[in-house]
Amino acid sequence: MDLLNLDDRLTPDQRLVRDTAQGFVREHVLPDVATWFEEGTFPARELGPVLGSLGMLGMHLTGYGCAGLDAISYGVACRELEAGDSGLRSFVSVQGSLAMFPIWKYGSPELKEEWLPPLAAGTAIGCFGLTEPDHGSDPANMKTHAKQDPSGDWILNGSKMWITNGSVADVAVVWAQTDGGVRGFVVPTSSPGFSAPLIHRKLSLRASVTSSLYFDDVRVPASSMLDVVGLKGPLSCLSEARFGILWGVVGAGRACFEAALEYAKTRVQFGKPIAGFQLTQEKLAWMAVALGQAGLTALHLGSLKDAGSLRPQQVSFGKLANVRAALDVAREARSVLGANGVTLEYPVIRHMNNLESVLTYEGTQEIHTLVLGEALTGVAAYR
Ligand SMILES: Cc1cc2nc3c(=O)[nH]c(=O)nc-3n(C[C@H](O)[C@H](O)[C@H](O)COP(=O)(O)OP(=O)(O)OC[C@H]3O[C@@H](n4cnc5c(N)ncnc54)[C@H](O)[C@@H]3O)c2cc1C
Repeated sequence: MDLLNLDDRLTPDQRLVRDTAQGFVREHVLPDVATWFEEGTFPARELGPVLGSLGMLGMHLTGYGCAGLDAISYGVACRELEAGDSGLRSFVSVQGSLAMFPIWKYGSPELKEEWLPPLAAGTAIGCFGLTEPDHGSDPANMKTHAKQDPSGDWILNGSKMWITNGSVADVAVVWAQTDGGVRGFVVPTSSPGFSAPLIHRKLSLRASVTSSLYFDDVRVPASSMLDVVGLKGPLSCLSEARFGILWGVVGAGRACFEAALEYAKTRVQFGKPIAGFQLTQEKLAWMAVALGQAGLTALHLGSLKDAGSLRPQQVSFGKLANVRAALDVAREARSVLGANGVTLEYPVIRHMNNLESVLTYEGTQEIHTLVLGEALTGVAAYR
Protein backbone atom coordinates (compact mmCIF):
# COMPACT_ATOMS: atom_id res chain seq x y z
CA MET A 1 0.00 0.00 0.00
CA ASP A 2 3.05 2.27 0.33
CA LEU A 3 3.14 2.97 -3.43
CA LEU A 4 6.39 4.95 -3.13
CA ASN A 5 8.16 2.33 -0.96
CA LEU A 6 9.18 5.15 1.37
CA ASP A 7 10.04 2.78 4.22
CA ASP A 8 12.79 1.29 2.05
CA ARG A 9 14.67 4.47 2.89
CA LEU A 10 14.65 3.66 6.61
CA THR A 11 17.78 2.25 8.23
CA PRO A 12 17.58 -1.11 10.04
CA ASP A 13 17.52 0.75 13.37
CA GLN A 14 14.66 2.98 12.21
CA ARG A 15 12.74 -0.10 11.05
CA LEU A 16 13.25 -1.62 14.46
CA VAL A 17 11.70 1.48 16.05
CA ARG A 18 8.79 1.24 13.59
CA ASP A 19 8.21 -2.41 14.35
CA THR A 20 8.47 -1.85 18.10
CA ALA A 21 5.91 0.97 18.01
CA GLN A 22 3.61 -1.08 15.76
CA GLY A 23 3.84 -4.05 18.13
CA PHE A 24 3.03 -1.83 21.11
CA VAL A 25 -0.03 -0.41 19.36
CA ARG A 26 -1.21 -3.84 18.25
CA GLU A 27 -0.87 -5.34 21.73
CA HIS A 28 -1.66 -2.49 24.11
CA VAL A 29 -3.85 -0.04 22.20
CA LEU A 30 -5.96 -1.41 19.35
CA PRO A 31 -7.93 -3.92 21.47
CA ASP A 32 -9.24 -1.17 23.78
CA VAL A 33 -8.89 2.21 22.11
CA ALA A 34 -12.48 2.43 20.84
CA THR A 35 -13.69 1.85 24.41
CA TRP A 36 -11.31 4.49 25.79
CA PHE A 37 -12.58 6.88 23.15
CA GLU A 38 -16.21 6.07 23.92
CA GLU A 39 -15.68 6.43 27.67
CA GLY A 40 -13.40 9.46 27.38
CA THR A 41 -10.47 7.87 29.23
CA PHE A 42 -6.79 7.21 28.64
CA PRO A 43 -4.83 4.80 30.88
CA ALA A 44 -1.77 7.01 31.18
CA ARG A 45 -0.47 5.37 34.37
CA GLU A 46 -0.59 1.88 32.84
CA LEU A 47 0.78 2.75 29.39
CA GLY A 48 3.45 5.24 30.56
CA PRO A 49 5.86 2.66 32.04
CA VAL A 50 5.42 0.34 29.04
CA LEU A 51 6.20 3.19 26.63
CA GLY A 52 9.13 4.14 28.85
CA SER A 53 10.53 0.61 28.83
CA LEU A 54 10.43 0.70 25.01
CA GLY A 55 12.40 3.97 24.92
CA MET A 56 9.48 5.93 23.42
CA LEU A 57 9.49 8.82 25.92
CA GLY A 58 11.95 11.60 25.09
CA MET A 59 13.43 9.23 22.54
CA HIS A 60 15.18 12.01 20.61
CA LEU A 61 16.91 13.33 23.75
CA THR A 62 20.23 12.11 25.13
CA GLY A 63 21.26 11.08 28.66
CA TYR A 64 19.05 10.68 31.75
CA GLY A 65 17.66 7.36 30.51
CA CYS A 66 16.54 8.78 27.13
CA ALA A 67 17.07 6.66 24.01
CA GLY A 68 19.06 9.30 22.08
CA LEU A 69 17.68 8.27 18.68
CA ASP A 70 17.67 10.31 15.46
CA ALA A 71 14.83 12.54 14.31
CA ILE A 72 13.52 10.11 11.69
CA SER A 73 13.26 7.38 14.34
CA TYR A 74 11.25 9.75 16.52
CA GLY A 75 9.05 10.58 13.53
CA VAL A 76 8.49 6.95 12.58
CA ALA A 77 7.53 6.15 16.19
CA CYS A 78 5.01 9.02 16.18
CA ARG A 79 3.59 7.76 12.88
CA GLU A 80 3.03 4.27 14.24
CA LEU A 81 1.64 5.45 17.58
CA GLU A 82 -0.81 7.80 15.87
CA ALA A 83 -1.94 4.98 13.58
CA GLY A 84 -3.29 3.68 16.91
CA ASP A 85 -4.79 6.96 18.07
CA SER A 86 -3.86 10.65 18.02
CA GLY A 87 -4.43 10.68 21.79
CA LEU A 88 -1.62 8.17 22.27
CA ARG A 89 0.76 10.18 20.10
CA SER A 90 -0.29 13.33 21.95
CA PHE A 91 0.63 11.68 25.25
CA VAL A 92 4.07 10.75 23.92
CA SER A 93 4.63 14.13 22.20
CA VAL A 94 3.67 16.12 25.26
CA GLN A 95 5.82 13.98 27.53
CA GLY A 96 8.89 13.99 25.28
CA SER A 97 8.78 17.27 23.41
CA LEU A 98 6.82 19.61 25.66
CA ALA A 99 7.67 18.46 29.20
CA MET A 100 11.06 16.70 28.89
CA PHE A 101 12.57 18.83 26.11
CA PRO A 102 12.37 22.19 27.97
CA ILE A 103 13.79 20.61 31.14
CA TRP A 104 16.54 18.92 29.09
CA LYS A 105 17.39 22.09 27.14
CA TYR A 106 16.82 24.89 29.66
CA GLY A 107 16.73 23.23 33.09
CA SER A 108 19.40 23.28 35.81
CA PRO A 109 21.41 20.05 36.39
CA GLU A 110 19.30 19.45 39.53
CA LEU A 111 16.01 19.77 37.63
CA LYS A 112 17.27 17.38 34.98
CA GLU A 113 18.36 14.82 37.56
CA GLU A 114 15.10 15.10 39.42
CA TRP A 115 12.66 14.88 36.52
CA LEU A 116 14.18 13.44 33.35
CA PRO A 117 14.83 9.84 34.49
CA PRO A 118 11.29 9.22 35.81
CA LEU A 119 9.74 11.01 32.83
CA ALA A 120 11.83 8.87 30.43
CA ALA A 121 10.77 5.75 32.33
CA GLY A 122 7.11 6.79 32.24
CA THR A 123 6.81 6.47 36.01
CA ALA A 124 6.25 10.24 36.10
CA ILE A 125 4.01 12.17 33.69
CA GLY A 126 4.51 15.71 32.45
CA CYS A 127 2.36 18.41 30.89
CA PHE A 128 2.93 21.77 29.21
CA GLY A 129 0.86 24.83 30.08
CA LEU A 130 0.92 27.64 27.55
CA THR A 131 -2.68 28.16 26.32
CA GLU A 132 -5.09 30.15 28.49
CA PRO A 133 -8.87 30.54 28.30
CA ASP A 134 -8.49 33.94 26.61
CA HIS A 135 -5.12 33.49 24.90
CA GLY A 136 -4.59 30.62 22.46
CA SER A 137 -3.00 31.64 19.17
CA ASP A 138 -1.72 34.78 20.85
CA PRO A 139 0.23 33.57 23.92
CA ALA A 140 2.28 36.79 24.13
CA ASN A 141 -0.69 38.34 25.94
CA MET A 142 -1.00 35.56 28.53
CA LYS A 143 -2.29 36.61 31.96
CA THR A 144 -0.68 33.94 34.16
CA HIS A 145 2.13 35.66 36.01
CA ALA A 146 4.95 34.90 38.42
CA LYS A 147 6.39 37.28 40.97
CA GLN A 148 9.53 36.72 43.04
CA ASP A 149 9.10 37.30 46.77
CA PRO A 150 11.91 38.39 49.11
CA SER A 151 12.83 34.75 49.88
CA GLY A 152 13.72 34.27 46.20
CA ASP A 153 10.79 31.90 45.59
CA TRP A 154 8.44 32.54 42.67
CA ILE A 155 4.68 32.82 43.26
CA LEU A 156 2.46 31.82 40.34
CA ASN A 157 -1.11 32.96 39.80
CA GLY A 158 -3.45 32.44 36.85
CA SER A 159 -4.88 29.61 34.78
CA LYS A 160 -4.25 27.52 31.68
CA MET A 161 -6.71 25.65 29.51
CA TRP A 162 -6.72 22.67 27.12
CA ILE A 163 -3.69 21.10 28.76
CA THR A 164 -2.95 17.55 27.61
CA ASN A 165 -2.05 15.17 30.49
CA GLY A 166 -2.88 17.98 32.99
CA SER A 167 -4.93 15.95 35.50
CA VAL A 168 -2.56 12.96 35.47
CA ALA A 169 0.71 14.90 35.48
CA ASP A 170 3.30 14.85 38.25
CA VAL A 171 5.02 17.91 36.85
CA ALA A 172 3.89 20.86 34.74
CA VAL A 173 6.08 23.09 32.60
CA VAL A 174 4.24 26.39 33.01
CA TRP A 175 4.83 29.58 31.01
CA ALA A 176 4.09 32.83 32.83
CA GLN A 177 4.63 36.57 32.52
CA THR A 178 7.27 38.08 34.79
CA ASP A 179 8.69 41.59 35.03
CA GLY A 180 11.49 40.24 32.85
CA GLY A 181 9.27 38.73 30.12
CA VAL A 182 7.71 35.28 29.62
CA ARG A 183 9.50 32.60 31.64
CA GLY A 184 9.07 28.85 32.10
CA PHE A 185 8.71 27.15 35.49
CA VAL A 186 8.91 23.50 36.41
CA VAL A 187 6.01 23.04 38.84
CA PRO A 188 5.34 19.82 40.77
CA THR A 189 1.59 19.25 40.57
CA SER A 190 1.59 18.40 44.30
CA SER A 191 2.39 22.07 45.05
CA PRO A 192 -0.19 23.73 47.33
CA GLY A 193 -2.48 25.99 45.28
CA PHE A 194 -2.14 23.89 42.09
CA SER A 195 -5.24 22.17 40.70
CA ALA A 196 -5.99 20.50 37.37
CA PRO A 197 -9.64 19.61 36.77
CA LEU A 198 -10.56 17.55 33.71
CA ILE A 199 -12.25 19.18 30.73
CA HIS A 200 -15.37 17.16 29.92
CA ARG A 201 -17.63 16.80 26.88
CA LYS A 202 -14.85 16.80 24.25
CA LEU A 203 -15.84 15.02 21.05
CA SER A 204 -12.27 14.83 19.76
CA LEU A 205 -9.13 13.30 21.29
CA ARG A 206 -11.43 11.54 23.72
CA ALA A 207 -8.73 8.95 24.49
CA SER A 208 -6.56 11.72 25.89
CA VAL A 209 -6.61 13.58 29.20
CA THR A 210 -7.29 17.32 28.68
CA SER A 211 -7.45 19.68 31.65
CA SER A 212 -7.46 23.20 32.97
CA LEU A 213 -4.64 24.24 35.29
CA TYR A 214 -5.18 26.71 38.13
CA PHE A 215 -2.43 28.44 40.09
CA ASP A 216 -3.49 30.06 43.33
CA ASP A 217 -0.32 31.47 44.92
CA VAL A 218 1.69 28.42 43.86
CA ARG A 219 5.17 28.76 45.33
CA VAL A 220 8.21 27.29 43.58
CA PRO A 221 11.92 27.78 44.35
CA ALA A 222 14.09 30.02 42.16
CA SER A 223 15.83 26.90 40.85
CA SER A 224 12.60 25.80 39.13
CA MET A 225 12.88 28.61 36.57
CA LEU A 226 14.06 27.59 33.10
CA ASP A 227 17.01 29.35 31.54
CA VAL A 228 15.27 30.93 28.55
CA VAL A 229 13.56 34.32 28.25
CA GLY A 230 10.57 35.20 26.08
CA LEU A 231 8.30 33.24 23.77
CA LYS A 232 11.22 31.59 22.05
CA GLY A 233 11.22 29.17 25.03
CA PRO A 234 7.75 27.68 24.45
CA LEU A 235 8.01 28.09 20.67
CA SER A 236 11.19 26.01 20.57
CA CYS A 237 9.33 23.22 22.41
CA LEU A 238 6.37 23.49 20.04
CA SER A 239 8.69 23.16 17.06
CA GLU A 240 9.88 19.81 18.48
CA ALA A 241 6.33 18.61 19.08
CA ARG A 242 5.04 19.79 15.69
CA PHE A 243 7.73 17.66 14.08
CA GLY A 244 6.13 14.66 15.79
CA ILE A 245 2.71 15.77 14.57
CA LEU A 246 3.70 16.06 10.93
CA TRP A 247 4.86 12.45 11.08
CA GLY A 248 2.10 11.22 13.35
CA VAL A 249 -0.83 12.29 11.21
CA VAL A 250 0.53 10.20 8.34
CA GLY A 251 -0.16 7.20 10.58
CA ALA A 252 -3.70 8.35 11.42
CA GLY A 253 -4.40 8.93 7.72
CA ARG A 254 -2.91 5.56 6.82
CA ALA A 255 -5.14 3.78 9.34
CA CYS A 256 -8.19 5.40 7.73
CA PHE A 257 -6.98 4.52 4.24
CA GLU A 258 -6.34 0.88 5.21
CA ALA A 259 -9.81 0.61 6.74
CA ALA A 260 -11.39 2.09 3.62
CA LEU A 261 -9.43 -0.17 1.27
CA GLU A 262 -10.31 -3.29 3.22
CA TYR A 263 -13.95 -2.27 3.43
CA ALA A 264 -14.13 -1.43 -0.28
CA LYS A 265 -12.79 -4.86 -1.22
CA THR A 266 -15.37 -6.71 0.87
CA ARG A 267 -18.50 -4.53 0.75
CA VAL A 268 -20.73 -5.74 -2.09
CA GLN A 269 -23.32 -3.45 -3.71
CA PHE A 270 -24.98 -3.82 -7.10
CA GLY A 271 -23.51 -7.33 -7.24
CA LYS A 272 -19.84 -6.48 -6.88
CA PRO A 273 -17.35 -5.12 -4.34
CA ILE A 274 -17.53 -1.31 -4.20
CA ALA A 275 -13.74 -1.33 -4.81
CA GLY A 276 -14.65 -2.23 -8.40
CA PHE A 277 -16.44 1.08 -9.01
CA GLN A 278 -14.35 3.79 -10.62
CA LEU A 279 -15.59 6.42 -8.19
CA THR A 280 -14.31 4.34 -5.24
CA GLN A 281 -11.00 3.71 -6.98
CA GLU A 282 -10.63 7.44 -7.55
CA LYS A 283 -11.04 7.98 -3.79
CA LEU A 284 -8.55 5.24 -2.91
CA ALA A 285 -5.99 6.43 -5.45
CA TRP A 286 -6.33 10.01 -4.25
CA MET A 287 -5.87 8.92 -0.62
CA ALA A 288 -2.76 6.90 -1.50
CA VAL A 289 -1.29 9.88 -3.37
CA ALA A 290 -2.08 12.31 -0.54
CA LEU A 291 -0.51 9.98 2.05
CA GLY A 292 2.53 9.34 -0.14
CA GLN A 293 3.09 13.07 -0.49
CA ALA A 294 2.66 13.59 3.25
CA GLY A 295 5.09 10.73 3.93
CA LEU A 296 7.64 12.25 1.57
CA THR A 297 7.31 15.61 3.30
CA ALA A 298 7.86 13.97 6.69
CA LEU A 299 10.89 12.03 5.48
CA HIS A 300 12.45 15.10 3.89
CA LEU A 301 11.90 17.25 6.98
CA GLY A 302 13.29 14.41 9.11
CA SER A 303 16.46 14.41 7.02
CA LEU A 304 16.76 18.17 7.48
CA LYS A 305 16.27 17.81 11.24
CA ASP A 306 18.90 15.09 11.44
CA ALA A 307 21.27 17.36 9.46
CA GLY A 308 20.57 20.13 12.00
CA SER A 309 19.17 22.52 9.38
CA LEU A 310 15.39 22.28 9.91
CA ARG A 311 13.84 25.75 10.21
CA PRO A 312 10.60 26.53 12.11
CA GLN A 313 8.93 27.66 8.84
CA GLN A 314 9.62 24.23 7.39
CA VAL A 315 7.99 22.62 10.41
CA SER A 316 4.96 24.89 9.81
CA PHE A 317 4.91 23.69 6.18
CA GLY A 318 4.83 20.08 7.32
CA LYS A 319 2.28 20.59 10.10
CA LEU A 320 -0.06 22.53 7.81
CA ALA A 321 0.25 20.25 4.78
CA ASN A 322 0.22 16.90 6.53
CA VAL A 323 -2.59 17.52 9.02
CA ARG A 324 -4.75 18.89 6.23
CA ALA A 325 -3.95 15.86 4.06
CA ALA A 326 -4.67 13.40 6.88
CA LEU A 327 -7.98 15.07 7.71
CA ASP A 328 -9.04 15.04 4.06
CA VAL A 329 -8.06 11.37 3.81
CA ALA A 330 -10.06 10.58 6.97
CA ARG A 331 -13.16 12.33 5.59
CA GLU A 332 -12.84 10.56 2.24
CA ALA A 333 -12.30 7.19 3.94
CA ARG A 334 -15.39 7.77 6.06
CA SER A 335 -17.49 8.17 2.93
CA VAL A 336 -16.18 4.84 1.57
CA LEU A 337 -17.50 3.11 4.69
CA GLY A 338 -20.99 4.53 4.25
CA ALA A 339 -23.06 4.23 7.43
CA ASN A 340 -20.42 1.99 9.01
CA GLY A 341 -18.12 5.00 8.75
CA VAL A 342 -19.92 6.71 11.62
CA THR A 343 -19.47 3.95 14.23
CA LEU A 344 -16.61 3.13 16.56
CA GLU A 345 -16.64 -0.41 15.14
CA TYR A 346 -14.20 1.04 12.59
CA PRO A 347 -11.33 3.40 13.38
CA VAL A 348 -12.14 6.05 10.79
CA ILE A 349 -14.47 8.46 12.54
CA ARG A 350 -12.35 8.26 15.70
CA HIS A 351 -9.29 9.37 13.73
CA MET A 352 -11.34 11.95 11.85
CA ASN A 353 -12.62 13.54 15.04
CA ASN A 354 -9.16 13.42 16.60
CA LEU A 355 -7.61 15.17 13.63
CA GLU A 356 -9.90 18.16 14.17
CA SER A 357 -7.99 18.81 17.42
CA VAL A 358 -4.66 18.15 15.75
CA LEU A 359 -5.56 20.75 13.11
CA THR A 360 -6.08 23.28 15.92
CA TYR A 361 -3.45 22.53 18.54
CA GLU A 362 0.21 23.48 18.36
CA GLY A 363 -0.64 26.30 15.96
CA THR A 364 -3.89 26.36 14.01
CA GLN A 365 -3.88 25.95 10.25
CA GLU A 366 -4.45 29.70 9.98
CA ILE A 367 -1.41 30.55 12.12
CA HIS A 368 0.84 28.17 10.15
CA THR A 369 -0.51 29.71 6.93
CA LEU A 370 0.50 33.13 8.25
CA VAL A 371 3.96 31.78 9.18
CA LEU A 372 4.40 30.65 5.57
CA GLY A 373 2.94 33.93 4.31
CA GLU A 374 5.50 35.84 6.34
CA ALA A 375 8.33 33.58 5.13
CA LEU A 376 7.28 34.18 1.51
CA THR A 377 6.52 37.90 1.61
CA GLY A 378 8.55 39.21 4.51
CA VAL A 379 5.35 40.78 5.86
CA ALA A 380 3.86 39.58 9.18
CA ALA A 381 0.04 39.53 8.90
CA TYR A 382 -0.88 38.22 12.36
CA ARG A 383 -2.47 41.49 13.47
C1 LIG B 1 -7.39 18.47 22.65
C2 LIG B 1 -6.47 19.66 22.81
C3 LIG B 1 -5.28 19.53 23.50
C4 LIG B 1 -4.45 20.64 23.70
N1 LIG B 1 -3.30 20.51 24.44
C5 LIG B 1 -2.58 21.63 24.78
C6 LIG B 1 -1.47 21.53 25.68
O1 LIG B 1 -1.08 20.44 26.12
N2 LIG B 1 -0.85 22.68 26.07
C7 LIG B 1 -1.24 23.91 25.62
O2 LIG B 1 -0.64 24.91 26.02
N3 LIG B 1 -2.28 24.02 24.75
C8 LIG B 1 -2.96 22.92 24.32
N4 LIG B 1 -4.04 23.03 23.47
C9 LIG B 1 -4.48 24.36 23.05
C10 LIG B 1 -4.20 24.68 21.60
O3 LIG B 1 -2.82 24.83 21.37
C11 LIG B 1 -5.01 25.94 21.25
O4 LIG B 1 -6.36 25.52 21.20
C12 LIG B 1 -4.58 26.58 19.95
O5 LIG B 1 -3.35 27.21 20.09
C13 LIG B 1 -5.62 27.60 19.45
O6 LIG B 1 -6.00 28.47 20.44
P1 LIG B 1 -7.55 28.72 20.73
O7 LIG B 1 -8.25 27.43 20.81
O8 LIG B 1 -7.64 29.66 21.87
O9 LIG B 1 -8.10 29.44 19.42
P2 LIG B 1 -8.00 30.98 19.05
O10 LIG B 1 -6.59 31.44 19.14
O11 LIG B 1 -9.05 31.73 19.80
O12 LIG B 1 -8.41 30.93 17.50
C14 LIG B 1 -9.76 30.76 17.05
C15 LIG B 1 -9.73 30.84 15.52
O13 LIG B 1 -9.24 32.14 15.14
C16 LIG B 1 -8.13 31.96 14.26
N5 LIG B 1 -7.15 33.04 14.46
C17 LIG B 1 -6.57 33.45 15.61
N6 LIG B 1 -5.69 34.45 15.37
C18 LIG B 1 -5.72 34.63 14.02
C19 LIG B 1 -5.02 35.52 13.13
N7 LIG B 1 -4.11 36.39 13.57
N8 LIG B 1 -5.33 35.45 11.82
C20 LIG B 1 -6.24 34.56 11.34
N9 LIG B 1 -6.91 33.70 12.12
C21 LIG B 1 -6.65 33.75 13.45
C22 LIG B 1 -7.53 30.62 14.65
O14 LIG B 1 -6.73 30.11 13.61
C23 LIG B 1 -8.79 29.80 14.89
O15 LIG B 1 -9.32 29.38 13.66
C24 LIG B 1 -4.84 21.91 23.19
C25 LIG B 1 -6.02 22.02 22.45
C26 LIG B 1 -6.83 20.91 22.26
C27 LIG B 1 -8.11 21.07 21.48
